[in-house]
Amino acid sequence: MSTEVWTIQKILNWTRDYLTKSGSPSGRLDAELLLGEVLKLRRLDLILRFDQPLQAEELATYKALIKRRSKGEPVAYILGRREFYGLDLAVRPGVLVPRPETESLVDEVVKFLTSDAAPQGAVLDLCTGSGCIALAVAHTLKDKALKGKGTERDVIATDLSPEALAIAIENRDALDLAVDLRHGDLFAAVPGLQFAAIASNPPYVRTETVAWLEPDVRDFEPRLALDGGVDGLDLLRRIARQSKDFLVPGGLVAVELGSREQAQAMSEACLQGGLSDPKILPVMGGPTSLVLARRPH
Ligand code: GLN
Repeated sequence: MSTEVWTIQKILNWTRDYLTKSGSPSGRLDAELLLGEVLKLRRLDLILRFDQPLQAEELATYKALIKRRSKGEPVAYILGRREFYGLDLAVRPGVLVPRPETESLVDEVVKFLTSDAAPQGAVLDLCTGSGCIALAVAHTLKDKALKGKGTERDVIATDLSPEALAIAIENRDALDLAVDLRHGDLFAAVPGLQFAAIASNPPYVRTETVAWLEPDVRDFEPRLALDGGVDGLDLLRRIARQSKDFLVPGGLVAVELGSREQAQAMSEACLQGGLSDPKILPVMGGPTSLVLARRPH
């Protein structure tokens, strides 16, 4: 591909086909994101400059990125960042790449916290990874407070992985948000505290299913963030059992899981854990679901 003239349009079309053949479900988008990175252009600007030819060095840099993507490496790791809930987050192999589905969890938590039903108190995000949920909630509450709609709240987030925590801290500092990031296994880092809301996207993939995940997930993303045990519910059951003690009366626990079946089991676990009114919300028509439950007053 090095002797011909490659315009932006031509290279995008070529890469779309090449990446699609290598198994990417989003060949065109991948191509635009990676070329945008090399040329330091936004996606819209690429389209406005369709006829611009690429220089030899640009082509060489781009080719190296495309090669990585064709071997399955997620675009977010290649770029070192991912947008989530309007925030630009640093993302590296030590954390799960934030997914659009998880934005629904943020929506639900913010909706609750800004409703009349919400008790006073802080917010807890368990298994925070890149910090995406905690940072999106903190950022949104801050933004709303500035506009006179509700108040800011303290946000604490925990993760078992020191590597993940370092990335979450980097994101918090870059966004200048006052989220308290703590190292520890679920609630271990917040003894004796009670929250108005607990959110979590814990690992929930069934152990035997991990091998069947898409190669870009299975071969690149941290197993610790994916494998939720035999039925995927190891951490979710602990969350269901312990949340009551860590919520103020009327507080909300909101979690993401991988299927309606898991959601059903989690709802039952929440009831057994002394929580009330569990609700299952399907996300974007897919198998991913949310379960929301409250600590009774
Ligand atoms: N949704 C993730 C996937 O694509 C799983 C995330 C999780 O286990 N929390 O596999």
